[in-house]
Amino acid sequence: MKRAAKEETTGCAICRWKGYLVERKGEYSTAEICKCIKEGCLECKGLGTVILQNRGYTYVNPCRACGVIRRNVKLYNLAGIPAKYSHVLEVNSFRPDNIRSHQKALSYAKDFVKKYPTERGFLLMGSAGLGKTHLAIGTISELTLDYGRKCLFKDFFHLLSELKQAYSQGTSENEVLLPLIETEVLVIDELGKGKSSDWELNILDQLISKRYNASKITLATTNYVTKEYGVKHDQEILEDKIGARIASRLHEMCEFIHIEGEDHRRVVKKKT
Ligand SMILES: [Zn+2]
Ligand SMILES: [Zn+2]
Repeated sequence: MKRAAKEETTGCAICRWKGYLVERKGEYSTAEICKCIKEGCLECKGLGTVILQNRGYTYVNPCRACGVIRRNVKLYNLAGIPAKYSHVLEVNSFRPDNIRSHQKALSYAKDFVKKYPTERGFLLMGSAGLGKTHLAIGTISELTLDYGRKCLFKDFFHLLSELKQAYSQGTSENEVLLPLIETEVLVIDELGKGKSSDWELNILDQLISKRYNASKITLATTNYVTKEYGVKHDQEILEDKIGARIASRLHEMCEFIHIEGEDHRRVVKKKT
């Protein structure tokens, strides 16, 4: 499906034959249909739809030539990818250090996309600045833009404040959680960051359980590590942050991948 969708496009040198361009727009990274399709699609004259007549009925159908690209661009724009990751359009843009755990994480994510739909997601753990968010975003960028899957990116901290705000406005529990349960793939970035109250952990528990029951795929990144590793290496422990119950549920839903190494951002600073 991936290759077929690309072969059908006309494309041009500006969009590198992808049919869309991605740029930062305010808070989010945004994809836009390229001019070559907007103005140059011969099949639909750039409308995105074609009108078909059959046995006296009129149908409006998505354009065969550019419909897939238009749909995938829409899905990418609904995924809420932060603006600073507008250059991360595929898993392969992650440059692993010469450390086994980096290469392992990269090949796991590549495999995940290739084999999707899969039964389990993955959780990337390790210190800040090792590219965990980059890998998660590369994964959902590919799943939306190349495979037309519905994905959603949520920063843990923002997720909780959004939920709190909605509740304070009297929105019902189900209504608040629905879009987070509904999405096919949910990324929770920086899981466990900050100090969460019992109320917040209860909501997180509900969200994770509902996604589990609905067999939805959850991906996560966290700066904390699981107990067995953390105690040995004197690092902050995930179970202490999100509770043993949620952690154990996540173990069932995700492959836990530990990324080792020094913070990339700090290394860059030292060099300059
Ligand atoms: Zn183009
Ligand atoms: Zn078209």
